[in-house]
Amino acid sequence: MYYRLPQFEYLRPNDLHQALETIREGDWKPLAGGTDLLLDMKNGRQSPKKIIDISRLSELRYVRTNDSRVLIGGGSRLQELLENVIVKEKLPLLSSAIYEMASWQIRNIATIAGNLCNASPAADSAPPLLVHGARVKLISSSGSRTVPLSEFFLGPRKTVLSNNELMGEIDVPLLEGYYYRYYKIGRRHAFTLSVVSMAIAVKIENGIFSDVRIAMGSVAPKPVRALNVEKELIGKEAKTVEITKAIDLVSEDISPISDVRASAEYRMKVTKFLLKESLQESLKYFWK
Ligand SMILES: Cc1cc2nc3c(=O)[nH]c(=O)nc-3n(C[C@H](O)[C@H](O)[C@H](O)COP(=O)(O)OP(=O)(O)OC[C@H]3O[C@@H](n4cnc5c(N)ncnc54)[C@H](O)[C@@H]3O)c2cc1C
Repeated sequence: MYYRLPQFEYLRPNDLHQALETIREGDWKPLAGGTDLLLDMKNGRQSPKKIIDISRLSELRYVRTNDSRVLIGGGSRLQELLENVIVKEKLPLLSSAIYEMASWQIRNIATIAGNLCNASPAADSAPPLLVHGARVKLISSSGSRTVPLSEFFLGPRKTVLSNNELMGEIDVPLLEGYYYRYYKIGRRHAFTLSVVSMAIAVKIENGIFSDVRIAMGSVAPKPVRALNVEKELIGKEAKTVEITKAIDLVSEDISPISDVRASAEYRMKVTKFLLKESLQESLKYFWK
């Protein structure tokens, strides 16, 4: 079958100010790398009449850091984040997730804001950012607002973003002294969408789980934290707590479905297996 793009009005602003002034009125759809949007337009899932191409806005491409956080411009390409020393050193979970995303060619044009704003339950950058408790800065011509990423997603392809806003920045607090692990289970080893993805960060102090952060993709209508599992573990003695009982609570955190990639049962089974493996590994890490 041959897919064609429908006709649309196209504008490529020179700077961020012009972009924000433009989207203030009318229904302009932002196009960054186009690796999600153009496919949706070709298969008829979306048919915006006006496209604003934000791919060349240099104001949205940066990585900055201080002692407590990393700030990532929304227009940063996935490949530049993968090659960025700050991301590599300070955000290993995000770096691992991006390493397993798509291919070099796609990562060279795809942006991190595009991955988040597309709001796919399988968006691979989301679990690591949720584990860090990241917040996103949504900017418009009248100012900006900051929203926790956990409140940004409303459901598949739905977010709190308004028509007149762009995702300008992702603010990622640093986590120090944690055991980290990122998993992506797909139907192939590489170049595939997740069947289950998981990011986990665990801290054990004086033998107690002082913090446990777990986030998952492709197992619910949106990327989610496993808050019930986290709550069951935090404050408990790490060596004696009933890990299996805590893990079983994940069925209250996620609601996997069966689709072309995997069955709901398989997703649930894999999720529990990954939780068990990573929690056991975290014990070994702190008692090495
Ligand atoms: C072959 C292939 C493989 C892929 N593999 C993976 C994978 O392994 N893992 C994965 O998670 N994804 C994967 N993807 C999906 C896609 O590449 C990513 O989601 C990518 O990060 C999207 O970024 P983009 O810049 O291309 O977004 P676009 O397609 O340009 O935009 C996506 C959506 O975000 C909106 N948007 C973009 N930027 C902004 C902004 N700054 N502010 C507000 N709205 C904005 C757009 O309006 C649109 O609704 C794959 C895609 C392809 C084609």
